[in-house]
Amino acid sequence: MRRILIAGNWKMNGSSSSTQTLLEGLKQGMGEVKHADVAVCAPFIYLPQVADLLNGSAIAWGAQNLSEHSAGAFTGEISASMLNDFNCKYAIIGHSERRSLYGESDELVAEKFAVALGAGLCPIICIGELLEEREANQTEAVVGRQLDAVIKRNGIEALAKGVIAYEPVWAIGTGKTASPEQAQDVHAFIRQRVAAQDASVAEKIQILYGGSMKPSNAQQLLAMQDVDGGLIGGASLKAEDFLGICTAAPA
Ligand code: PEP
Repeated sequence: MRRILIAGNWKMNGSSSSTQTLLEGLKQGMGEVKHADVAVCAPFIYLPQVADLLNGSAIAWGAQNLSEHSAGAFTGEISASMLNDFNCKYAIIGHSERRSLYGESDELVAEKFAVALGAGLCPIICIGELLEEREANQTEAVVGRQLDAVIKRNGIEALAKGVIAYEPVWAIGTGKTASPEQAQDVHAFIRQRVAAQDASVAEKIQILYGGSMKPSNAQQLLAMQDVDGGLIGGASLKAEDFLGICTAAPA
């Protein structure tokens, strides 16, 4: 039985004071969250504060990116071992904003997956199609290509040590959510593609949905057979909204 994981992606939002308020609110509400594991992925600069505030709580934390290099002359980058210094559990890899705004290729994303795993972090690998790709019936081709790059570089067994997030790009930050059926269709496709190589990895791997998930639609999305949680952007910035999603996880 796969556990539900609800992970917040704060993106480039917040301040020290809003981080404190948000995390205090989440910690207070966690008693109501019975059926989900919970994590927040914060901007790098707030990770020491997040680690201090969440240490000993039921909420895990992580980063939104990492460098593919281990150390050296890479101005502005953050390595996996630096994330380990602050006890990060997760690192989001290949978010569509990294792919589109910073030109991250499938191969680079696959390399980052390897680096994260090598450091003992759990990579949350994001895959998903653009609106024009969906309209051209290319969803499966795109998602399959993005997934295959990770498997090719890391092997199928390594995939089980990470988490997949299906994030249709047209649903991210737009208020447009994939219907539960649309999400389920792609999640089932992803699981079948993994199963074609290793049935036990397919059974085990968590596949999260991301794209305008909020308290009002979380229950229906999380009820779908192959939806094992959510990667949450906008609605992870308010404790009440994020907790509303966490408590929508089915038993
Ligand atoms: C995301 O960026 O990963 C995301 C799902 O954002 P939002 O929930 O705001 O659509």
